[in-house]
Amino acid sequence: MKTLRSVIGIIALSAAASSCCNAPSSQADANDMKHLLLATAWFQQSAEMRACYYQSYMLAKMALKENLQNYKGTKPAAVVLDIDETVLDNSPFEAKLMGDRSNYSDSAWMAWSAREEALALPGAADFIAYARELGVEVFFISNRILEERDRTLRNLAAAGMAVDSAHLLLYDLSKKTSCKDERRNAVSATHEIILFIGDNLGDYTSLFDRRDSRLALHLADSLQGDFGRKFIILPNPMYGEWENAIYGHNYSLPMAEKNQMMLDLLRK
Ligand SMILES: [Mg+2]
Repeated sequence: MKTLRSVIGIIALSAAASSCCNAPSSQADANDMKHLLLATAWFQQSAEMRACYYQSYMLAKMALKENLQNYKGTKPAAVVLDIDETVLDNSPFEAKLMGDRSNYSDSAWMAWSAREEALALPGAADFIAYARELGVEVFFISNRILEERDRTLRNLAAAGMAVDSAHLLLYDLSKKTSCKDERRNAVSATHEIILFIGDNLGDYTSLFDRRDSRLALHLADSLQGDFGRKFIILPNPMYGEWENAIYGHNYSLPMAEKNQMMLDLLRK
């Protein structure tokens, strides 16, 4: 999911198709993928990652309950979640890319999502059940593309997070942007969104969609009061708009060059 990655993330596939990403499909040198190996191992096989997700979804429950108690409007309350690396775990896709020594490609992603084997991330299904118990409607806004609708519905159901098609808003390639504003606005037209959850800050606001050389670090600081209250951020070290911004949005550069850009950027 690079489109994800690219744009962001898993932006998935979308990314791929979107303005964001132009990931190459050339063979990758194993030494150049070590950063992804560490990130994927942490995401898939560390107890710390599981604890982070449980912690985040526990906080999400608390925030949802509080926000619902404070909400006095008349529109039905809703929570909006991203899908990839928010409720579904696609780390096997990352692992397969490394095993094949391949870079991200849209076709590789589509082959993975067609398997419908992504597992639920820790705490996600329980949170969704809790939201529904409170009477809060659950919407998914994902940059998976429209073509992936049926498989995504089936995968979510198999992972214990069944949803109907009306509550699944995917990326329409004809819009030529993976920005989620239009879909957020569509939900807001009929519902009050009292909480957002995602692994990318673009899952909350488009302010983070196209980051300049400051990498939006200052924006995160300026919105610090929203985190844990209005938006629950989940950890994804494998890819994201954060990574794409480091490369100056040139995701198609050779991996060795991108690794050098990362190294050059770090404070030492
Ligand atoms: Mg995501």
